Amino acid sequence: MKKDDCIFCKIANGSIPSKTLYEDEQFRVILDMGPAAKGHALILPKEHFANLYELPEEWCGKAFCLAKKMAEQMTQKLDCDGFNLVQNNGETAGQTVFHFHIHMIPRYQEDGQKIGWKPLSPTPEELEAVRAQICG
Ligand code: 5GP
Ligand code: ZN
Repeated sequence: MKKDDCIFCKIANGSIPSKTLYEDEQFRVILDMGPAAKGHALILPKEHFANLYELPEEWCGKAFCLAKKMAEQMTQKLDCDGFNLVQNNGETAGQTVFHFHIHMIPRYQEDGQKIGWKPLSPTPEELEAVRAQICG
């Protein structure tokens, strides 16, 4: 299903033009218009899924295989020094476009970018409580 008012549905299906790196029946890979680094790309499914929770399992495997294939090609062609895959779900997690996408961010020495977090310092008991909460 496509969502009429979704910009990534329109881009993925070609009704809004984009700088496309790859396309098949299920996915389009485009350059991000606000890149974190040269070559920052987005993997977009052509069907509308708002986020990872909505993405069907059979699409998950294909999306990750495509990410690997694109990372290999982009690393070779752009001669980058590393790669981040980023995938945001929900406003709190930084998602701004509510159509599932994977950010593919080539990294270069001294690119000045930072993708990270401030590590917390949980006690072993706190870690165990979280483990039990998730697994219980
Ligand atoms: P999010 O914050 O949802 O994980 O990422 C959304 C990304 O989509 C941002 O990096 C933003 O630059 C990119 N973006 C938003 N609108 C467009 C668009 O119309 N075209 C392209 N190429 N990228 C877009
Ligand atoms: Zn959509």
